[in-house]
Amino acid sequence: LDNAFSPPFYPSPWMDSTAPGWAEAYTKAQAFVRQLTLLEKVNITTGTGWQSDACVGNTGAVPRLGFPSLCLQDSPLGIRFADYVSAFSAGGTIAASWDRGEFYRRGYQMGEEFAGKGIDILLGPVVGPLGRSPKGGRNWEGFSPDPVLSGIAVAETVRGIQDAGVIACTKHYILNEQEHFRSPGNFEDAGFVDAISSNVDDKTLHELYLWPFADAVRAGTGAIMCSYNKNNNSQACQNSYLQNYILKGELGFQGAILSDWDAQHSGVASTLAGLDMTMPGDTDFNSGLSFWGPNLTLSIINGTVPAWRLDDAVARILAAYYYVGRDKHVTPTGTNFNSWSRDVYGNEHSFAGNGYGLINELVDVRGEHFRAIRQAAAKSTVLLKNSGVLPLTGREKFTAVFGNDATENEYGPNGCPDRGCDNGTLAMGWGSGTADFPYLITPLEAIKSQVASNGGVIQSVTDNWAYSQIAALAKQASVALVFVNADSGEGYINVDGNAGDRNNLTIWQDGETLVRNVSANCNNTIVVIHSVGGVLVDSFYESENITAIIWAGLPGQESGNAIADVLYGRVNPGGKLPFTFGRQYSDYGVADLIYEPTNGSASPQDNFVEGVFIDYRAFDKNNIEPIYEFGFGLSYTTFSYSNLNIAKISAGPYTPTTGNTKAAPVLGNHSTNPADYQWPANLTYVNKYIYPYLNSTDLKEASNDRDYGLDVELPEGATDGSPQPRIAAGGAPGGNPQLWDVLYSATATITNNGTIPGDEVAQLYISLGGPEDPKVVLRNFDRLSIQPGQSTTFTADITRRDISNWDTVSQNWVITNYTKTVYVGTSSRKLPLSAKLPL
Ligand code: BGC
Ligand code: BGC
Repeated sequence: LDNAFSPPFYPSPWMDSTAPGWAEAYTKAQAFVRQLTLLEKVNITTGTGWQSDACVGNTGAVPRLGFPSLCLQDSPLGIRFADYVSAFSAGGTIAASWDRGEFYRRGYQMGEEFAGKGIDILLGPVVGPLGRSPKGGRNWEGFSPDPVLSGIAVAETVRGIQDAGVIACTKHYILNEQEHFRSPGNFEDAGFVDAISSNVDDKTLHELYLWPFADAVRAGTGAIMCSYNKNNNSQACQNSYLQNYILKGELGFQGAILSDWDAQHSGVASTLAGLDMTMPGDTDFNSGLSFWGPNLTLSIINGTVPAWRLDDAVARILAAYYYVGRDKHVTPTGTNFNSWSRDVYGNEHSFAGNGYGLINELVDVRGEHFRAIRQAAAKSTVLLKNSGVLPLTGREKFTAVFGNDATENEYGPNGCPDRGCDNGTLAMGWGSGTADFPYLITPLEAIKSQVASNGGVIQSVTDNWAYSQIAALAKQASVALVFVNADSGEGYINVDGNAGDRNNLTIWQDGETLVRNVSANCNNTIVVIHSVGGVLVDSFYESENITAIIWAGLPGQESGNAIADVLYGRVNPGGKLPFTFGRQYSDYGVADLIYEPTNGSASPQDNFVEGVFIDYRAFDKNNIEPIYEFGFGLSYTTFSYSNLNIAKISAGPYTPTTGNTKAAPVLGNHSTNPADYQWPANLTYVNKYIYPYLNSTDLKEASNDRDYGLDVELPEGATDGSPQPRIAAGGAPGGNPQLWDVLYSATATITNNGTIPGDEVAQLYISLGGPEDPKVVLRNFDRLSIQPGQSTTFTADITRRDISNWDTVSQNWVITNYTKTVYVGTSSRKLPLSAKLPL
């Protein structure tokens, strides 16, 4: 993999008029694009520049046709940079609910909020990073290192967002697995270092990292964001293999690829490699220059880029717009907030400092979402250990609460920009993947109100270093609740020496010492962990004085209420770990992250040599006993599994997609006379705004490029708009539709053996049987609510895709001859039922 090479693939596939589900959007988009002038087309593809308009990204508008500037806004857990919005659970936390209904509802409610603020494109959900290494700073924005859990979660989230009339932008495509060196730039002492290259083989790409992107495409995601990093040494937003061949070809993606913020590093090259929209539009924040804008206009009129490629880019953006019914959901006044100010009146164009007027209508878009947020957070809480002390009654004689993670940040819940600090209780990570809290219910508040409502005794120490007070209070307590955390985030913020990625897996704020100090003095110590992923618990998890351990993830605004619901038994926990808790970092079976340059100023080479073996697959392969395995989680009741039955379902054979596409449509025409593209006389220029106009009728001068006109050779086929062969593994959004043929249906009986109702997530794993396959891979699950003493039937489909491997030779999915075994159980390691798949 060292110095891996990404093969060229051209031309960039244009939209497919036959793509299932997209016909109406396709027709409307084509009709709209036909009306546009070249300048208007360029405007729709190019952002107006960082902080030029109300949103983190805005496209140019088409005032002539009343088509607005599109507003693109973070984040995957709620609206960033706005007031009167909800802070939902993070992706990696909702994943622990293993609940399709919760995935969808969260997506839908976020969509409603984004629509209400006049946002067109939600910059989420995240399935890249997938979570190759538990130290990856942004893992918590995504769902799970398991591709199937991530794939189901992303598909439901996309559907939810888009059903509310907002375009989902699934990101970051692809292999964006660490923060250090994600973009070319200067790194303190190291000087300039080029972007890291994630080097991956074809099989690992398909069977692991691409898998959830395929689900997002199949669910209809209208946009996909290409990432900052390089893949096999080709910058992601101009990687023709991954964008043209894999995403638009094999996966049949019909929407638009937009760049991560300043992840575009070329003009013509990225255009031909399939990029459809550049964000935020400028080459560097506020440079006033763009790879597109005037340069895209120029490359079309001088013939370097074929008109069909620009037409296709614009058509894809418009198709996404119509696909989600965006035209029917627009707010009357358009975007009604401004990312760069909470003031009611201010500058519409923040960076330029002009356009003074009403910028924030203070629209409260939260509805009743707090109820679902609380319920979802409680359902995502994972009970890891319980010696019988939970649930609490609320009538414990003396309740003591410990830890700065139990209480509020002294600067307020939004006191650190983009949550870039670890003060007080942790309810989201840091970076662009955040929202401002409307409020944050802390664990201490919720527990105190619970105990006080019974007239009980409750006290707390929230300074982790107040050793004598901690010991004194712990000695008095009949139950001690210790709150600890571990944080991470996006690389542009450094928190306590962690530049996005975690430096290690230890609990923060000296939390292990806190746990030790409390549990040394109280034999009924309950530990609650708020964290971005797995943390090291080896020093205390077996201690007899630690009677319970809970992983509560990053629960969002209702954090305290949700944990109190679980602690006091109003909610019987049913969450399951979406990742593994190992004993030490090396147990995870992946190389350490790259924290220092390893290749001089050239791209650090990050070779994904472990292949598909990440998280539980690595523990299984290397025979390493985890502390708490993927899929694990306890309940206040117990369940048993019986009666696995597998029925074969008849389906036709798998047929590779064949034939040719149509020719690329050209939508309208344009003059090639530079005089037609000069600055209009009556324009009010906004400083550093990106416009599509040319500075001169002399194209060389307009390009401001001393190499303009030099004979450059374009990649072979890059401008060819003639019919192209269809890809065998493709054929519809997500890939060959027959991959989703149901080949088997599994059923099993799950019984609640206890005395209270509870939820059990029944999990179906498959052994694909080959020497290079993981021991088992998750393929399906269902969260079932079961009454005490009752049984329920777990039913799970097994599709062709579920039992296929990627064959690098035929470039297609194949069912190997190895015997395949189905397992059903309660975690990746507790699989009491199994059966061979009948042939
Ligand atoms: C992040 C994206 C985000 C964008 C806009 C980038 O740095 O990687 O996830 O959507 O900024 O804020
Ligand atoms: C912005 C983020 C963006 C990041 C890119 C920050 O200043 O707030 O939105 O993701 O820069 O590096």
